[in-house]
Amino acid sequence: MLDYDLHCHSNISDGTLTPAEVVNRAFLRGVKVLALTDHDDTDGLDEARSTAELHGMTFVNGVEISVTWRKHTLHIVGLGIDPAYPPLQQGLMSVRSGRGARAQKMADELAKIGIGGVLPGALKHASNPNMIGRAHFARYLVEAGHCKDVKSVFNRYLATGKPGYVPHQWADLHDAIGWITGSGGVAVLAHPGRYMVGKHSMGKQTMHALLTEFASLGGQALEVVTGSHTPEQYAEFSRYADEFGLLSSCGSDFHGPDESYRDLGRLPDLPLICRPVWEALH
Ligand code: AMP
Ligand code: MN
Ligand code: MN
Ligand code: MN
Repeated sequence: MLDYDLHCHSNISDGTLTPAEVVNRAFLRGVKVLALTDHDDTDGLDEARSTAELHGMTFVNGVEISVTWRKHTLHIVGLGIDPAYPPLQQGLMSVRSGRGARAQKMADELAKIGIGGVLPGALKHASNPNMIGRAHFARYLVEAGHCKDVKSVFNRYLATGKPGYVPHQWADLHDAIGWITGSGGVAVLAHPGRYMVGKHSMGKQTMHALLTEFASLGGQALEVVTGSHTPEQYAEFSRYADEFGLLSSCGSDFHGPDESYRDLGRLPDLPLICRPVWEALH
C-alpha cells in the first residue's frame, strides 16, 4: 500500500511550517500521496502542489472547514476540491471573517484573569492574520511562560468551558459539504473521536444522528485513522463507516515537528473492512 497522508496543516492556518516545508518533510518521511488541509483557507495549495511535483509525489488539494452542528464544533475535510470554485472561496472567506473579533474576545477574557497583552503576542505567531486561532494563542502563552506546552494551555485556558474559551458560530454543515462537493471534492468527517462532551467523546446516539445527516447531505467519508485516535477508535469508526456506507480516510493532522500527536506519514493501515477514500479521488 502507498503511504497516504490526507490531513495536515501549514502556516497558512495553524501549522508551524510553510507549505513547501510540510511537503519536503512528508517526502523525506516516505509519503507518496499528500493532501494539505489547512483550516478554512486554500492559499497554501499552489506552493504545496509545485513542491510535491518536484518530488514526484501525488498531491491532493484539501481544506478543513470549521462547522457548528448543534452545540458541537466539527471539522469537515474536503479532498480533491477545486480551490477556484467561487462558492467555496466565498464560503471560506465568510468562515474566516469571524476570527478577528473572536480573537479580540479571547484576549479580553484572558485579560480578566490577569493575562494581558495576548492578542499582539498571538498575532506574532500567525503568519496569516486572517486565520488567527487558538493554536497561535497557545504558542504565545507557552512562549510567555504561562504553561509548559501547547497541550497544557488548551487544558487550562482554551478548551471548551475554560476561561479563554469564546463560543463561536462557524459554517453550517449543509453549506460546508455543499462547497466541497460542489467544487468536485469529497467531504470527510475529520477525527470523529475528538468531538467531546465533557470528558467523553460524543455519545452513540448523537454520532448516529450526525452520520445520518452527514451522509444525507452528501458527505462521503469518515476519518478512521488520524493522529488523535486510539487503535480502539480505528476499529470503532471503521464499523461506523461500514454501517453508514462511508469511505474511510487517514491522515496525521500534523501541525508542526514539536506539537503533534503524530508526525507526517507512516500511519497505521486502515482496518481491512474499510473502503479507502482514495478510490473516490483519482
Ligand atoms: P480554532 O479553529 O481557532 O478553534 O483552533 C482549533 C485548533 O486548535 C485545532 O485545529 C488544533 O490545531 C488546536 N487544538 C484544539 N484542541 C487542542 C488540544 N486539546 N491540544 C492541542 N491543540 C488543540
Ligand atoms: Mn489546527
Ligand atoms: Mn481538526
Ligand atoms: Mn486538522
